[in-house]
Amino acid sequence: MAVVEIRGLTKHFGQVKAVDGVDLSIQEGELLVILGPSGCGKTTLMRSIAGLEQPTAGEVLIGGRVVNGLPPRARQVAMVFQSYALYPHMTVFNNIAFPLKAQGGMTTEARKEKVEWAASLLGVEHLLDRKPRQLSGGERQRVALCRALVREPTVLLLDEPLSNLDAKLRASARDELQRFQRRLGITTIFVTHDQVEAMGLGDRIAVMNQGKVRQIGTPQEIYHESGDTFVATFLGSPGMNLMEREDCLLGFRPEHFLPQEAAEGRHNLTTFSLKVTRIEYLGADRLVYGVVDSVAGETRTVAKLPSTVTLSIESGESYPFFVQKQHLRFFDKATGTRTEPNPL
Ligand code: ATP
Repeated sequence: MAVVEIRGLTKHFGQVKAVDGVDLSIQEGELLVILGPSGCGKTTLMRSIAGLEQPTAGEVLIGGRVVNGLPPRARQVAMVFQSYALYPHMTVFNNIAFPLKAQGGMTTEARKEKVEWAASLLGVEHLLDRKPRQLSGGERQRVALCRALVREPTVLLLDEPLSNLDAKLRASARDELQRFQRRLGITTIFVTHDQVEAMGLGDRIAVMNQGKVRQIGTPQEIYHESGDTFVATFLGSPGMNLMEREDCLLGFRPEHFLPQEAAEGRHNLTTFSLKVTRIEYLGADRLVYGVVDSVAGETRTVAKLPSTVTLSIESGESYPFFVQKQHLRFFDKATGTRTEPNPL
């Protein structure tokens, strides 16, 4: 049974359709990532699940029960925000104990046990007497998670909890978060605008844009079988190349666009002449930017070459590049939706 089910969820703020008819189903123990650009409605969707926003229309079910009428505290969900929102004047212990105190009905001893349980789960037992300002970013994140966990929620909602960390710490915090989520098996919804984070963490990813879920699937599915041009170009670094054809848009990913010298042993090639305008060295990869002639005139196109491709490439020159047919994707020109190739 789905732990969380969202049916036709809509939330308007005046004229703004922050969330616009979202259907989602999250399974027990799953880590679902909601990925989308700034302003696409991710936070509003999470706040609606948590009970911090009343939807304009639609239903939220938790554990099979409609919770629309229930206040946040009665929903068995815990939310960790981007800022962590720790109370600066309280010790770590009191920060973690806070939701239990607010809930009431627990002895001091039972509360202490619960705080220590959560603290040991996330390895912050030695920090319980400190104040938040005496913690590193990563430690604050763990304390915020402890505070979310003490009430043993059915669902954990995480809204960009890693965005305050520097790049290196972020990678280790992501790894830690994933291991802890697996170990606890807690159903988790994780919001981010960072595709690398989404691909690395999610069992499934729901890609959102303008209040709507554009596609939901495993990281592999949404990357290799993107359902529309928004998903295709939002994912990947850089995103998918798109080129106008008479009757459709043709798409292929930069890593599948290779110079002729890499063609040996590969079959079913579609070739293009790439006029190179700029080259970027990224350590392991080389990005080659240029233009290709298409029905719409010159189309900006980029290739991502691994270091095994040693061809010397100069800006201003043209080179034959190819894509294997199995890597070509076709999209409807008017709607941007994925289509089958036109047999003509
Ligand atoms: P970000 O990644 O920047 O946090 P988001 O995807 O989480 O963005 P939301 O915060 O859900 O997006 O906002 C979605 C839309 O709803 C935006 O256009 C935003 O300006 C608008 N919005 C959100 N909250 C309110 C509010 N309380 N009143 C009016 N408009 C709001």
